[in-house]
Amino acid sequence: MGTIQAIRGTRDIFPPEISYWHRIEQVARQVLNRACYQEIRTPIFEQTSLFERGIGEATDVVGKEMYSFRDRGDRSLTLRPEGTAGVVRAYIENNLYAVGGVQRLWYQGPMFRYERPQAGRQRQFHQIGVEVLGSADPRADVEVMALATDILKNLGLQHLHLALNSVGNGEDRQRYREALVAYLTPYRAELDPDSQERLDRNPLRILDSKDKKTQAIVQAAPSILDYLGEDSRRHFDQVQQLLTDLDIAYELTPSLVRGLDYYTHTAFEIQSDDLGAQATVCGGGRYDGLVQSLGGPETRAVGWAIGLERLVILLQQLGPSNPARPDFYLISKGEKAEAKASQLAQQLRHQGFSVELDLSGSAFSKQFKRADRLRARACLVLGEAEAETDTVQLKWLASKEQETCNLKELLSQGEQLRQRLAELN
Ligand code: ATP
Ligand code: MG
Repeated sequence: MGTIQAIRGTRDIFPPEISYWHRIEQVARQVLNRACYQEIRTPIFEQTSLFERGIGEATDVVGKEMYSFRDRGDRSLTLRPEGTAGVVRAYIENNLYAVGGVQRLWYQGPMFRYERPQAGRQRQFHQIGVEVLGSADPRADVEVMALATDILKNLGLQHLHLALNSVGNGEDRQRYREALVAYLTPYRAELDPDSQERLDRNPLRILDSKDKKTQAIVQAAPSILDYLGEDSRRHFDQVQQLLTDLDIAYELTPSLVRGLDYYTHTAFEIQSDDLGAQATVCGGGRYDGLVQSLGGPETRAVGWAIGLERLVILLQQLGPSNPARPDFYLISKGEKAEAKASQLAQQLRHQGFSVELDLSGSAFSKQFKRADRLRARACLVLGEAEAETDTVQLKWLASKEQETCNLKELLSQGEQLRQRLAELN
């Protein structure tokens, strides 16, 4: 019988890689807590229409990447391809706007897109994202960008740059769209097939094409920055000034458009030089129209999402991970000693120590080898002699120091043990 394999485009994450994930989650949580963002958890599947209306039917995500299916009640459901639509649905459904003011939210979790799997691109992938709902202020745009750069910086990542653009408001974009179509139409036959199709449906998205020939044509296309109205211009100038005030470097990138209808004004990406083709680690922008288009009150908003798989690749390039090390590895042999070791493990855990109990019953030397492999800080050894005398051998693995301890005393010296463990770090 054949073995069952994980679905193409999904991965199992286990040690030691998992410690990179823990680090990312910890750093993100810390940065976001400090800025008083609240975590929100929304369901992994939603009605398909949420994404069709929220993300837009002309987008790649909705057009060809969604995992949609009918459930037993014949409802069309979709595994969320991104986080914003669900957060906005929850915001509207739970009247979060009714409390007034600004809501600062963040989320994390798996997302699903039917794409061609490759390095940094999967079918189940993970994002951390933020959404600030209820503010049109350029300071909100800059706050979220600063948070993204802080998270990446605190992770020790380098060679990142922030690409910045404004896609204006609906009117600006309409005028730009006409100019862009007028420019591109004579080149229609030379565009890649996807872009030819987009020329009618979603022309701004052509600026995003990965096709070399299309890119060359797009090079000389009109710039959206020349089509911004006065309000959009002012907003964008303020965003740039505030970024400069915060010492956050950016590159103006007029070709950066997020082809979704609800995006307005600020659009940005953070890209890495160290990732090859899948270079974007963070994408975001302002979406002043989304809440309304999903049936809520007019609510200005801005947010981003960071792709965690790509961060893990970058962290792996920087060096080996740091898996959690046990404080104590508990070694025992013989019936009585083994029973006492179980008890001791429990007692030490209750005192807050991390303790791994060897269950192998194999020779002491083998148990020590495993302790070394786990990089335990110390071993506690119980043999028959120790079991008889209610003692334990405490062996510090780095210094090889060894001492005989009375069990009761050991357990009453939690603070001293903690001290000694801390000194090892
Ligand atoms: P890309 O151009 O790489 O397809 P995107 O514009 O579709 O990205 P967003 O929807 O803005 O991506 O998602 C934000 C981030 O989530 C991306 O910058 C990326 O880091 C990550 N991401 C998106 N799709 C995937 C995927 N299939 N696998 C892994 N990470 C992804
Ligand atoms: Mg994509």
